[in-house]
Amino acid sequence: MKTPFTNEPLTDFSNSTHSAAMNKAIEKVRGELGKTYSNHIGSETITSPETFASTNPANKTQVVGIFPKLTTQHVDQAISSAQKAFESWSKKPATERAEFLFKAAEKMRERKHEFSALMMFEVGKNWVEADADTAEAIDFMEFYAREMLRMSEKQPLVKMNGEDNSLVYLPLGVGAVIPPWNFPLAICVGMTTAAIVSGNTVVLKPASDSPTIAYKFFALMQELGLPAGVINFITGSGGKIGDHLVSHPQIRFISFTGSKEVGLRINELASKPQAGQKWIKRIVAEMGGKDAIVVDEDVNIDEVATGIVAAAFGFQGQKCSACSRAIIHEKVYDAVVEKVVEKTKALSIGNPHEQKTQFGPMVSSSAFQKTLEYIEIGKKEGKLLTGGTPVGNEGYFISPTVIRDISNEARLSKEEIFGPVLAMTKAKDFKEAIRFANDTDFGLTGAAYSNNPANIEYARNEFFVGNLYLNRKCTGAFVGVHPFGGFNMSGTDSKAGGRDYLLLFTQAKLMSEKIR
Ligand code: NAP
Repeated sequence: MKTPFTNEPLTDFSNSTHSAAMNKAIEKVRGELGKTYSNHIGSETITSPETFASTNPANKTQVVGIFPKLTTQHVDQAISSAQKAFESWSKKPATERAEFLFKAAEKMRERKHEFSALMMFEVGKNWVEADADTAEAIDFMEFYAREMLRMSEKQPLVKMNGEDNSLVYLPLGVGAVIPPWNFPLAICVGMTTAAIVSGNTVVLKPASDSPTIAYKFFALMQELGLPAGVINFITGSGGKIGDHLVSHPQIRFISFTGSKEVGLRINELASKPQAGQKWIKRIVAEMGGKDAIVVDEDVNIDEVATGIVAAAFGFQGQKCSACSRAIIHEKVYDAVVEKVVEKTKALSIGNPHEQKTQFGPMVSSSAFQKTLEYIEIGKKEGKLLTGGTPVGNEGYFISPTVIRDISNEARLSKEEIFGPVLAMTKAKDFKEAIRFANDTDFGLTGAAYSNNPANIEYARNEFFVGNLYLNRKCTGAFVGVHPFGGFNMSGTDSKAGGRDYLLLFTQAKLMSEKIR
């Protein structure tokens, strides 16, 4: 009997034993940088003459890992390998599949700081963010394993005399798992393990900005003896091989997390049946956000500003849940703006592997360029108060940026930037602030600060987002506590880390036998 799920504790780095352990892991990972990695299809190790390098965003010339650029033929090979593995994996008892996740969680826990250290080098997460990412990955495995056990128990049905009725959850088949780089471990692990613990087999194509972290997870599963072909690990440009992967007739489901543009394209391609395809593909697509924190007139300014700054600039604003808009009651607008600027200026910018760093680099050259372009737009749409400039030229650093007096109609109020740019908007009252917050195509997270119970109730009823937070920041969802997913163009509201999630990777079969 498993103990009930509890969240993996976050590491207290003020304890010198923990900080020394992290520094040791950083040095170990540093010594492993620059290696060439292979891909894995079934039991075959795949290399390719064409490769790409994943580099450290804080130090552009430092190579983290070199990976093969696979072709559409490899995609076909990976899908047939997954199909073959599905025959036996899907028949394994749920307990056996769950056991892999429990063992993997345990192993990852033992090497926690190594996983976190690699994230510092590959995507620029600071200590605290990387530690939280690894803890979330462990949580996903612990949580989904228990969920599978629950779903494999006898399911409650209304009794009918003369019949023996039962319902079981069957896996779907071969899935394409396409994660983003911004939670390079947690989301990759969560999406992959939810699929396989449900009895499916997958082709995992990690984001090209974070293949080494995904590989480290794959290698851990291999080490535990996960049967070959259950996870087929392929790398290469999503733009080049993605269409082929998601359109393939033998793909039964696609689990995607990433941008709205790519999610919509996948949705469109996958909805068109191909010759030989026997099913409607299941699509789980979690996409972007334009998340707002709404502030009422009667708040504690310091507390609110702390929440806004943490949500706007944690991991350099590169979270789908990041606060990119603060919409503030006119009575406290100037005071909140001033406090937010003060706290933003106090953030320590630096190399993510240094413990003191609060704010690191953008993940890539394209993210860096895109953010600078939006800052130029923002300077025309409002008034730049702080930040807005590149910092140094070793990495993709942009100082945390606050722009005030952005109107609700401005591009900065509507378009996802996915960088450290906070737009501040004045509203005449709380209701108008909520209306502005809802006025985008997205609906992922949102937060409202108020000491007025009626306004809190108003936010509960009217703020249309998948994850609503009240009197706290809009980032920082915990597995099992805050199931995560968004409305509208933010995706299919899959509620990762919640009790409904594994249903997306299964199909229920009802069996009714007449008792004679
Ligand atoms: P992205 O550019 O959409 O890429 C996501 C994944 O899709 C990557 O693995 C990418 O591979 C792949 N891809 C690209 N083009 C493809 C195609 N035509 N077919 C199939 N796959 C393709 O997003 P990202 O920059 O990695 O991540 C940032 C975005 O993710 C933001 O919009 C953020 O809000 C969103 N996000 C949402 C959630 C959520 O839960 N709602 C969570 C995290 C992030 P390559 O890397 O090789 O291009």
